[in-house]
Amino acid sequence: MSNPDCLFCKIIKKELPAEFVYEDEHIVAFKDINPIAPVHILIVPRKHMKDNNDFMEEDEHLAGRIFTLVRKLAEQEGIAEDGYRIFMNTGKHGKQIVPHMHLHLVGGRQL
Ligand code: AMP
Ligand code: ZN
Repeated sequence: MSNPDCLFCKIIKKELPAEFVYEDEHIVAFKDINPIAPVHILIVPRKHMKDNNDFMEEDEHLAGRIFTLVRKLAEQEGIAEDGYRIFMNTGKHGKQIVPHMHLHLVGGRQL
């Protein structure tokens, strides 16, 4: 479930600090440490999956929860009406830096 060497697993377990904006039993969301826009939130499943290549049928419930959470966080952050971008970097060619699957929610300015 958790990887002791993983940065985001450590954040999820509160062994490292982060500015959390949401938490439940399956998913957490916290502010990106190096934001590219006024709103930049990372939505992260608690379960350690390296990237989307680890996402299996048993994980499908997470996808629905994540997209509902995107809507709620966009409303909470005041970016729902003007719009935003969601994206997930995957693997080497996707320029993924942190190998714990996560979705970026970015908005608050024209991208
Ligand atoms: P990527 O793996 O390409 O999706 O990028 C990882 C993202 O995690 C980058 O946008 C980083 O700024 C962000 N990041 C790295 N370390 C931390 C941290 N300790 N707390 C919050 N965000 C982080
Ligand atoms: Zn992890």
